[in-house]
Amino acid sequence: MPTTQLNSDVALGVAIPSRNARGRVARLGAVVDSVLANHRYPPLIERLMAEALVLTALLGSLLKEPEGQVTVQAQTESGIIDLLVCDYLAGELRGYIRHDPERLADAGPNPSLFALFGKGYLAITFDHPTMKERYQGIVPLEGESLAHAAQWFFAQCGQIASRVRLAAEKRDGRWFAGGLLFQHLPEGEEGRERLHTRLDHPDWPHIAILAGSVKPEELTDPELPLDDLIWRLFHEEDEVRTLGALPLSRGCRCDPDYVRSVLARFPAEERKAMVGEDGKIRVDCEFCSSSFSIGPHELS
Ligand SMILES: [Zn+2]
Repeated sequence: MPTTQLNSDVALGVAIPSRNARGRVARLGAVVDSVLANHRYPPLIERLMAEALVLTALLGSLLKEPEGQVTVQAQTESGIIDLLVCDYLAGELRGYIRHDPERLADAGPNPSLFALFGKGYLAITFDHPTMKERYQGIVPLEGESLAHAAQWFFAQCGQIASRVRLAAEKRDGRWFAGGLLFQHLPEGEEGRERLHTRLDHPDWPHIAILAGSVKPEELTDPELPLDDLIWRLFHEEDEVRTLGALPLSRGCRCDPDYVRSVLARFPAEERKAMVGEDGKIRVDCEFCSSSFSIGPHELS
């Protein structure tokens, strides 16, 4: 089997059986730049997008089936940011952020999550099409950072004690984003159904402290392979298993056929109203900023 490089654009699974803990660690490099290249965001929004992408990668690497999909959505009514969306499918990531540039400029150099979103909600959706399962949890967007909001999400929606760390940094003009997610599975290893949950299990605080001790520069350093990072954090544990590595890339699922199929579902009257002065229906993909011009005759 070819070995996957464990430096950038990859997620790695980790199990610490004696502590009933599982983890995921991920780092993105070219993927972040590639997503950002389609948008013109100020640096603050770029950083948030980078962190959101790596969070989405961590969540995607928890999926149990290859066709599974994860969507992370943060939404507010009157925030500087009114919508953040990232999704993951088969190792491919994409995302976009809608924001008000003028209000952002007034927010200062380092606004809190609350300052950016105001009163908002974080929704995370796991789709397992093969198993015909969908799980969606929604929590108020709280805490100082996206990592805190994600931790809060797991505590509220899954009753799973979790440690989430996210970091993003621009190095020599290129973005690197890294993150880790560790969780306590009190009923044993991954795959076993949990019968009840104890959030105060004595093994967990130990793992939470070790996982939480990771430094932002370790998460983002492309010279530090993810298995070395895991070793640094957990080398005193009895047994630490690294699971498979998951390569990550940027991908968008919009294409002319897809856009035509979506438009074809609108009633004829509504489609007529969409036709512009050039006689075509123009559709923009917010994820990748691609623009499609579709002639109404193509839809019948
Ligand atoms: Zn697209």
